[in-house]
Amino acid sequence: MNIAVVGVQGAVLEHVHATEKAMKNLNFHGAVSWAKDRLALENADAAILPGGESTTISKLIDKNEMKDALEDLPILGTCAGMVLLAKTGGIQVQQTGQKLLQRMDFCVERNAFGRQRESFQAPVHVSFLEEPFPGIFIRAPSASNVQAPAQSVAFFNETVVGVEQQNALALAFHPELSGDLRLHEHFLLNFVKR
Ligand code: GLN
Repeated sequence: MNIAVVGVQGAVLEHVHATEKAMKNLNFHGAVSWAKDRLALENADAAILPGGESTTISKLIDKNEMKDALEDLPILGTCAGMVLLAKTGGIQVQQTGQKLLQRMDFCVERNAFGRQRESFQAPVHVSFLEEPFPGIFIRAPSASNVQAPAQSVAFFNETVVGVEQQNALALAFHPELSGDLRLHEHFLLNFVKR
């Protein structure tokens, strides 16, 4: 199993390490790579789109010709990665005119938790986990208008902070920084072909 963490900008290494640990826990064989261009995605079975600045990441995806591969591969997007997976965006996305990959049927609001709460940690309720997940939010987005076949799967209070659709999982928070591997394990187990 080859997992490519799209490393054009943002929190890449943390995802590489978390994914390696999750693979080990699950006893899956394979490699996790730091993918910087189209070629690096050619042998990947799945991709991870990390947090960072979604406007910058989307420009680099275009420039490095990674868009086509990222439209098909099983994918986990966190924070800025979630922004890029959305079909439509609220006011901030419209203002910057940034390009989204538009893989998932929801509307994303960037920096949804306001300046007062730029970064915080809070328990997130995830539909398929028994215990709450420690959500680390850093200028995080949120999802609204989630339409089938997309499904809301994670909630902070009433706000949707996780969405699943076919082979894509979008999370508004940073599981790679939490030391909790349950969501990486869920992704590897349920989204990636073995
Ligand atoms: N606020 C950033 C954006 O909208 C995302 C922040 C993050 O990935 N931690 O692109």
